Amino acid sequence: MAISTSTLGRDAQGASMAKAFDPARIRAQFPALHQEVNGKPLIYLDSAATSQKPQAVLDALDHYYEHDNANVHRGIHELSRRSTEAFEGARGKVAGWIGADDPAEVIWTRGTTEALNLVASAWGLDNVHEGDEIVLSVLEHHSNIVPWQLLAQRTGARLRYIELDDQGRLILDDLPKLLTERTKIVAISHVSNALGTVNPVKDIATAAHEVDALVVVDGAQGAVHADVDVRELGVDFYALSGHKMCGPTGCGALWGRRDLLEAMSPYQGGGEMIHVVGRDESTWAELPHKFEAGTPNIAGAIGFGAAVDYLSDIGMDAIQAHERQLMEYALEQIRAVDAVRVYGPDSLDEHSAVVSFTLGDAHPHDISTILDAEGVAIRAGHHCAQLVMKHFGIAATARASFYLYNTKDDVDRLIAGLSTVGGIFG
Ligand code: PLP
Repeated sequence: MAISTSTLGRDAQGASMAKAFDPARIRAQFPALHQEVNGKPLIYLDSAATSQKPQAVLDALDHYYEHDNANVHRGIHELSRRSTEAFEGARGKVAGWIGADDPAEVIWTRGTTEALNLVASAWGLDNVHEGDEIVLSVLEHHSNIVPWQLLAQRTGARLRYIELDDQGRLILDDLPKLLTERTKIVAISHVSNALGTVNPVKDIATAAHEVDALVVVDGAQGAVHADVDVRELGVDFYALSGHKMCGPTGCGALWGRRDLLEAMSPYQGGGEMIHVVGRDESTWAELPHKFEAGTPNIAGAIGFGAAVDYLSDIGMDAIQAHERQLMEYALEQIRAVDAVRVYGPDSLDEHSAVVSFTLGDAHPHDISTILDAEGVAIRAGHHCAQLVMKHFGIAATARASFYLYNTKDDVDRLIAGLSTVGGIFG
């Protein structure tokens, strides 16, 4: 795939040495890929929605439930000790994955959506006031728009947007006008799920910090495809979802700078997040537990940690190189299909492993239905990015998204399916 390592934060020299990458061996490790759908071998091109899970992650989940299942932190017995060790160990793995110095800066959440809501509520409600401004972009997933709309409505703050050009890239020349002393937050996606655009987060963070705004990054599609180093990127918060990167659903994380997290009030109240509870008030547990009320998704976190191990073992530079080759081929092939229009950046350096397109007058839902009959799974719709669709004057696109287990044969099956679509609608 096609994210440049420098754009994502860790420069190429700092990346680990690429290992030999064998797509057939990788593919064999994902049980769900080995099935027929509608009588045809499944081709899964919907990883931007959720990735498939390797056997190593499924085994980690099974092992936890079969051997170690117990609640974390509170128990003074062997199973609870094991469970806590695996759970906290996974936190350390996720911290390492994004270059965080300290696992206590990593808060478990249900996913990116909850992580962004956590910042909007816990930091936003105490620090954003009437007349303040929050800068977003038109490229955002609804998860990185709606929490800020709610915050703006509650506080009287104003939302301002970075607009897009005709390739779905941010118009950064407008940034100096948008960033003022009233800007409190710049909330930006690392990589667009709708178009695959890779945003220059580091440059945006530098500009935002010049006006003392905090930078919150929606990393749902960023931490998936390349090494991410939050310190190198210079951001303040980074949100991610385990299920997009081979982990189970229902577990994600928020990384935040320790000084910010320490100053923030809790997001939710309950067990686990307290130090002492009195009749009228309570005191809070240390980080990260202050933000983790109730029994956490223990198995999810352990599975997320196993996914990090799995991807680290293959090596992100090897995965990136494979995805880049695949994207080069996919873009070339899809662009050559009659009546196709591809949305998103022309340059591979700015284009992640997503191809968003329309085909003549065929509705994207029809494209997806016809492809499904051929065993090819893509996504059709607005991709939770209605502002992007509006920008291009369309209601929906068809989206094929790729990951480490996809191959050129998958692209060929997609193209064959599109010719069937063309035959019906042409
Ligand atoms: N942001 C982006 C760019 C996404 O692609 C997604 C999911 O598709 C999200 C946020 C929300 O992630 P989750 O549903 O895992 O919370």
